[in-house]
Amino acid sequence: MSEECTHDCSSCSANCSSRNEPQDLTEKLNQYSSVKKVIGVVSGKGGVGKSTVTSLMAVMFSRMGHHTAILDADITGPSIPKAFGIKERAMGSDKGILPITTHSGIDIMSVNLLLENETDPVIWRGPVLAGTVKQFWTDVVWQDVDYMFVDMPPGTGDVPLTIFQSIPLDGIIIVTSPQELVSMIVSKAVKMAQMMNIPILGIIENMSCYVCPDCGKKHYPFGQSSLEEVAKEYSLEILGRLPIDPACSEACDKGRAESLVVPEAQEAAEKLEKLLG
Ligand code: ADP
Repeated sequence: MSEECTHDCSSCSANCSSRNEPQDLTEKLNQYSSVKKVIGVVSGKGGVGKSTVTSLMAVMFSRMGHHTAILDADITGPSIPKAFGIKERAMGSDKGILPITTHSGIDIMSVNLLLENETDPVIWRGPVLAGTVKQFWTDVVWQDVDYMFVDMPPGTGDVPLTIFQSIPLDGIIIVTSPQELVSMIVSKAVKMAQMMNIPILGIIENMSCYVCPDCGKKHYPFGQSSLEEVAKEYSLEILGRLPIDPACSEACDKGRAESLVVPEAQEAAEKLEKLLG
């Protein structure tokens, strides 16, 4: 150890053998892949509609004429193939694993495309889960992708942390429900992204209200939203608010995500496209 060493590598200029440089843990993309922009879709907890919003954003971006992909990193709760009605198994080639392409041209990779039975549970430990997601980045052939949406595992645990470090995200979208905003779970997700220096592109409130199909009156089953306050507190761009829409859950359950018409999601996608430049 050098005599000038202050034991704090971030501020010390001494060149000692124990020097502790910040490590770049980013994984290399498959050599046959090309992905221009990568957007992580995160939520503080499960069940708020993260996968639904991922699907909707991919569908809207694809409709805007971009070659779009979804990397389903929610390994223990993969719901993307079902939303797009994909039944096939992914195949390999000498270049790597090939994603499955949906009717409208969205490339998808998910653990469910590799399991013998899509109903088989994934009972793996954290490092294996994170390792699988890394392989989706390094071993899958993503050809000429303009925008890739990564459906992240919910929460701020070990697996999302490793993914944040290994996949070079251009930014994240935070998906929340009105309840989550109140319970401070969103604040934790925001702070995690800030600590990891990942740009937060914006926030989408899902299930923000229910519009009565008979009288058109808006109801707030999860309470009035505090989206404005939270967005102001953390300087977040509000990308949009999506209502509770039974047609949305039905389309995703029946594999028809590509047929969805959700004007609020379209507006959010247009805002996001502008932000990404
Ligand atoms: P997450 O990925 O956060 O766990 P999902 O996207 O799987 O959540 O959504 C959980 C459930 O809620 C699904 O059955 C989905 O179809 C339904 N859902 C999500 N968003 C909406 C919405 N805006 N309107 C109606 N149902 C929704």
